[in-house]
Amino acid sequence: MEKIGYNIVRYERRVFQISRIKKGIIHLRIWMKLIIIVGIAVLLALSAISFFYKPTYEVTYNGEFVGYIDDKGELQSKINEYITNGNGDANVAFVQIQSMPQYEICLLKKEVKTNDEEIYNRIIGTGVSYYKYYTIKLDGEDKYNLATYAETEDIMNKLKEKESNNIDKITTVEKYDTSLVEFSNVDTCVDGLYEEKPKPKPKPVVVKQPTYASNNGAIGSSRNVNNPYNSVELGISLIHPISGVISCRYGNQGSYYHTGLDIAAPGGTPIQVAADGTVTYAGYHYSYGNLLIVNHANGVQTYYAHCSQLYASVGDWVAQGQVIGAVGSTGNSTGNHLHLEVRVNGTAQNPQNYLY
Ligand SMILES: [Zn+2]
Repeated sequence: MEKIGYNIVRYERRVFQISRIKKGIIHLRIWMKLIIIVGIAVLLALSAISFFYKPTYEVTYNGEFVGYIDDKGELQSKINEYITNGNGDANVAFVQIQSMPQYEICLLKKEVKTNDEEIYNRIIGTGVSYYKYYTIKLDGEDKYNLATYAETEDIMNKLKEKESNNIDKITTVEKYDTSLVEFSNVDTCVDGLYEEKPKPKPKPVVVKQPTYASNNGAIGSSRNVNNPYNSVELGISLIHPISGVISCRYGNQGSYYHTGLDIAAPGGTPIQVAADGTVTYAGYHYSYGNLLIVNHANGVQTYYAHCSQLYASVGDWVAQGQVIGAVGSTGNSTGNHLHLEVRVNGTAQNPQNYLY
């Protein structure tokens, strides 16, 4: 009994196992069928969708819906080209649009029309063209606008050829503007900018100054003297050669006749010539020491004696006020002073009738 009972149990267990496998197979079949059915349904649905709908892009521009397009790539490349090249005008440097359009993929009923062209036009319609050109400046001031850089080079070369005086002041700048400026042509610019080089200054006309000949007799004649109170008409005016203290007047000094006026001043004091004239003596002359004699108009002569320095030479034309020497104590002198003589046709005059 015990053994039979055991076998029955085993048999039942086997039957049970077999039925579990069968059940599993049945389930699998059901699932497969379901998958196939669902798959077919999806395919049908998709083909239905693709029959009625098409995938398109919804375009928004500046946050606003503007339409649908078939070909996003084509539109975008057209826009990019427009931004780079504008409408084809040679001077358009670039175009600025407000923003880039936004694309979102969507399914669109096939009967709804896409409007690529219209969207393109709408987007580029907001574009602002920037024109590129070149401005020639003179001294920092805008003068001419040129369409191309080559033209500006041409202008500079032509100005250089013509040796225009202002080449250093001419500059070229690249400009961008939203409106197209008026362009000048090369020749107009060259003509307008050209500046003639200043002609070399004409050499100063050397006015032949009258040379007053030294025809006034012996130097320092004390025989030809005029009375200290007699004044003659010099016909020229004299200025003070130096300022200083009169140390000896013109005229009879008892033991000798003083043919000039002594004016004491520190050694080295510059001596100015009393009037325009020609230097007829410049050198050491006995008791005069270093002496300058200047001949003026109308036979007038002035002497400057005892000088420490002589700054003029014989034949020099000297203008009134010009420094011709320096006060000294050369010759027959006991201290620094200027011995000034005024002679007319060789006759000594009292300088104080004209000066000091
Ligand atoms: Zn003297």
